[in-house]
Amino acid sequence: MRFLLFFIIGFCINFSSNAQSDDEKMLQAIYNEALSNSKCYNWLDYLSNTIGSRLSGSSAADKAVGYTKKELDELGLDRVFLQEVMVPHWVRGEKEKAYFENKGKITEVPICALGSSVATPKNGLKAAIVEVQGIDEMIALGTEKIKGKIVFFNRPMTPIHIRTFEAYRGCIDQRSSGAREASKLGALGVIVRSMNLRLDDFPHTGNTNYGDLPNDMHIPAAAISTNGANLLSQALRDNPNLQFFFKQSCEMLPDVLSHNVVGEIKGTENPNEYIVVGGHLDSWDLGDGSHDDGAGVVQSMEILSILKRLGYKPKRTIRVVLFMNEENGNRGGLKYAELAEKNKENHIFAMESDAGGFSPRGFSLEADSSNFNKIKDWKRLFEPYLIHVFVEGHAGVDINPLQSKHIVKAGLQPDSQRYFDYHHAANDTFDAVNKRELELGAATMTSLLYLMDKYGIE
Ligand SMILES: [Zn+2]
Repeated sequence: MRFLLFFIIGFCINFSSNAQSDDEKMLQAIYNEALSNSKCYNWLDYLSNTIGSRLSGSSAADKAVGYTKKELDELGLDRVFLQEVMVPHWVRGEKEKAYFENKGKITEVPICALGSSVATPKNGLKAAIVEVQGIDEMIALGTEKIKGKIVFFNRPMTPIHIRTFEAYRGCIDQRSSGAREASKLGALGVIVRSMNLRLDDFPHTGNTNYGDLPNDMHIPAAAISTNGANLLSQALRDNPNLQFFFKQSCEMLPDVLSHNVVGEIKGTENPNEYIVVGGHLDSWDLGDGSHDDGAGVVQSMEILSILKRLGYKPKRTIRVVLFMNEENGNRGGLKYAELAEKNKENHIFAMESDAGGFSPRGFSLEADSSNFNKIKDWKRLFEPYLIHVFVEGHAGVDINPLQSKHIVKAGLQPDSQRYFDYHHAANDTFDAVNKRELELGAATMTSLLYLMDKYGIE
């Protein structure tokens, strides 16, 4: 009898550990497919190496719209269409120049104009420079110490954060609001330490925002490489009166017409419940935007491609949206949300990949507690793929304007240790993206999307 009991228990344990649930089987099929037959790396190759950087309003951004629409057309989706959106058109102009002059010695430093910045006067701007660790310190110094000078914002990213976006968020006000606040104190321009945890010679751009300051108060703003920032800071300790020079010829042109690209598989049971996945098609102009956000674009396209190849018929309507103009306006994200509301489309789930094409670790989720707990319960399904991060937090800039009642949002969280080595800089290029890591991200997103489609939201 005892022997029989052991036998039965042993059989049950053995059976339960070997039998795969339908969901486990589906996730395995998704990962197998993504790692064997993915198209996303080739798409990224074309976007990066044939089209190149895709700043809003540029002809390359237009080419990227045409190319991705054509590729989506070839996937045999139910519908592929464009959404018109007017976008800002900022151009960098000539390559920027900068140096500091200390006791007759000139030291050149690498800079780049911040997006949306105005130009310096034609022959450049030369003035004394004041280093601060942030906007508060500058305000404490007051007009008397700032007026007629260039402000140097030099607060570095804090190295102790394992999730490096936290370090980024701790510095970004210097780039986004530094010029505006410095102008109010009479500064002539600003130089901002690049948001990069590594010491190197790449200046990292990104948008600056003058808010409602009148045009005549817009002052030029540039980023300086981390090595350049350290050199300048050291020289200022030696000579606080040294002169800094920079020259840039960037310009804001009138808005132009561009597009979001949308592809769709119609739902078989609840076609008016929409699930959206996307990344942004525009990029900054210094590299080719392979990590930011070519990776997110091709991963999002790959999700629909995997579902088609596996013959999966979604219950709900699945859309891929390639948003235009995340970097300097978010007009594409706003337009998509506006049209979704106008067309009374009930969006239940939106997912974005905009944190680089590195090894996926999990998701940052915006959900009420019942949906958050439900998703967390799926964590064990992801464990074989080394996916373990399911945290509450910001999901994505492009999907942020979508505001359906109970919508759940997710942002893919890849490992972020190297992201800021490349973010918004000239080295954000195709060779910095690893094919398998890119594919694993696509598989991870497809898996969560499959589970959300199958089980819906609470
Ligand atoms: Zn991005």
